[in-house]
Amino acid sequence: MFTAERIADKADWITTQTGDWEMIIGLEVHAQVASKSKLFSGASTAYGAAPNTHVSLVDAAMPGMLPVLNAFCVEQAVRTGLGLKAQINRFSRFDRKNYFYPDLPQGYQISQLYHPIVGEGELLIEPEPGQTIAVGIERLHLEQDAGKSIHDLDPDATYVDLNRCGVALMEIVSKPDMRSPREAAAYVRKLRALVRYLGTCDGDMEKGNLRADVNVSVRRPGGKLGTRCEIKNLNSMRFIQQAIDYEARRQIGILEAGGTVEQETRLFNTETGETRTMRSKEDAHDYRYFPDPDLLPVKLDEDWLAAIKASLPELPDEKKARFVREFGLSDYDAGVLVMDREKAAYYEEAAEGNDKKLAANWVLNEVFGKLNKEGVAIADCPVSAAANGAIVRMISAGTISGKIAKQVFEICWTEGGDPEKIVEERGLKQVTDTGAIEAMIDEIIAANPAQAAKVKDKPKALGWFVGQVMQASRGKANPKTVNEILRKKLL
Ligand code: MN
Repeated sequence: MFTAERIADKADWITTQTGDWEMIIGLEVHAQVASKSKLFSGASTAYGAAPNTHVSLVDAAMPGMLPVLNAFCVEQAVRTGLGLKAQINRFSRFDRKNYFYPDLPQGYQISQLYHPIVGEGELLIEPEPGQTIAVGIERLHLEQDAGKSIHDLDPDATYVDLNRCGVALMEIVSKPDMRSPREAAAYVRKLRALVRYLGTCDGDMEKGNLRADVNVSVRRPGGKLGTRCEIKNLNSMRFIQQAIDYEARRQIGILEAGGTVEQETRLFNTETGETRTMRSKEDAHDYRYFPDPDLLPVKLDEDWLAAIKASLPELPDEKKARFVREFGLSDYDAGVLVMDREKAAYYEEAAEGNDKKLAANWVLNEVFGKLNKEGVAIADCPVSAAANGAIVRMISAGTISGKIAKQVFEICWTEGGDPEKIVEERGLKQVTDTGAIEAMIDEIIAANPAQAAKVKDKPKALGWFVGQVMQASRGKANPKTVNEILRKKLL
């Protein structure tokens, strides 16, 4: 495991004519709290409503309105902090971050600068199978989202939709511990898995419910840190990686030409894959932060905290360790299985009472492979976990071969039904009866004397006979038995 001060692997350096460069990457992820109502008002957070229908007087910043803190949102922030193995601050407070935006009627965002609810923590990421890196968490704070300006409805006007205004966000700030686009993507993937396990955010990047601001700078490997630029609002793994790569190369180009990188906030163009200046970077003091006088500080009760701790589900790292320790799965397979809570649960159900490794192979290759190919979510999988458990059980018992098992799975997928009944009714049971197989083999050898004679000198030719027997048995002969008898007769 690597710590924060590590230098990137050589493979992750960008090499130019002047030598090697290393990328230094930190992420600020905005994760929308999975709450039905907003952070300081009772207005709904439901997605896709008609514009400006989910706006309370507080969200619209009418004079004299007062914010009331949503306790559920506080609880979700604490749960997420616990999942990040982070310091939970017993005292936190809200500040006003002043800035003007047409879609922010208050003229300030209520956020937490000086006293965030969650302090330092850690997230383990796996950019490559078998490689684990600890990425430091700097803080997690609660803040409000702004509304949305809509520029493409009218050629001459911009419309404002305040439905999103006041929705609770958790801003999760990492330390600059990542060294490649791949590591940044692995970080977001893991963070998304974690909040989904915890149920604190749905992690839906397409809807913008989880989006990342990326801080990138470059330096000579292990050298002095460079000036960073921030790229705002990236909402897919692909864009995150593209933006980092483009930005690092842009900065290297400037430095190699003898220039200096200006600290600024940039936007990523998803069409061209380039970043461009949005605004020169402001510092915290430009926002004139001050404690929001309308809100009391948040003080957490120890009993309340203990109750939340006790209610946490088994999280991905712990689940992975258990799959390796108790089920004997490989690190890689366990890692893939636990990245999605529903998939992990599906596997566990299919593996119940079965050979765990066989079940893992089956679920990973056949079931998840099919889901990927067909673009079907696990929740909509037409073959239940229990049905797959039955298929695995029949493979283990030698009732069906692996090949027939795939056929049975296909039938279950397209027609539905109980795998055991399908095998029974369609006569798919594997033929393990040695006598029956021997009879088939004798017939094939008798029909192909020249081929049979060749096998003694060319043992590889045995495979042809295996194929013939399997074909004659329509895939039902036990391949192991077929091989054994053929060897005895021909070698
Ligand atoms: Mn923010």
